[in-house]
Amino acid sequence: MLSSQKPVAISIDILRTSIKQKYSANKIFLLNMIADIEQLYNKLDRINFGVEIFTHREGIPTDEVRALLHLYSSKTMIVEENIELLYKSNRESIGGKCPYCGIVEALTIDHYLPQELFPEYCIHLSNLIPCCTVCQGKKGIKYIENGLPLFIHSYNSIITSNTILECRVIDWKASYYINYGNITSAANRNTIDRQVHLLDIINRCKLASIDRIDEYRRNIEDRIKKIGLSDTIGFVDKEAKYLERQYGSNSWTSALMRGISVHLHGRTQ
Ligand SMILES: [Zn+2]
Repeated sequence: MLSSQKPVAISIDILRTSIKQKYSANKIFLLNMIADIEQLYNKLDRINFGVEIFTHREGIPTDEVRALLHLYSSKTMIVEENIELLYKSNRESIGGKCPYCGIVEALTIDHYLPQELFPEYCIHLSNLIPCCTVCQGKKGIKYIENGLPLFIHSYNSIITSNTILECRVIDWKASYYINYGNITSAANRNTIDRQVHLLDIINRCKLASIDRIDEYRRNIEDRIKKIGLSDTIGFVDKEAKYLERQYGSNSWTSALMRGISVHLHGRTQ
């Protein structure tokens, strides 16, 4: 172990040039990442990694990138600690669900900008997103099309604060739709469309719903018999709010409960 070695200093200019080449269309949605990079590498510089890869201080850019990749894949403690913080914040904000689909648990780390194409961002925190293995697999190395991002960046996008998933329950069958809410920009709507399509979110929500809606139906019909329809609606609305707080408004469970609420309100008319 070479604990006295300092980390490789990444040249900001090299990163800027590499970003410029890869984003010839000048993508605003990634400017934050470029701005953040200085902060990240300043932080790295102060940390004593004691890892052999940092011995080549005069290394060429490829070496630096290789060093970053090694830092990520070798599960260096600081990287692991930061990843744990990302998981923790994901648990606190959306109950550990995958931010891309809202369907299942986030059990892996996705590189928003694919590692294969942007190895220099392999340990950049704003590029690391806890997500589910299904979304990660479907996302692959896709990230942009016709100058527009294909996926919602869960850390800095305004889209996440809105409800993009709507569920309609008819005869205790659930169908899911996109609800743009107050998203008016065509570019943002396009990103929502592409994400829902590429990650097959509507079908996956439907599949995930089938067993659960049966369970809800039995529970709710029982409640209606016991406490009446209007008190049951009150219970369902409370439950919907709880699920929203727990898993975010874009999780399928929240959408389903909102759908059930609308369904029950319909019965009172
Ligand atoms: Zn997912």
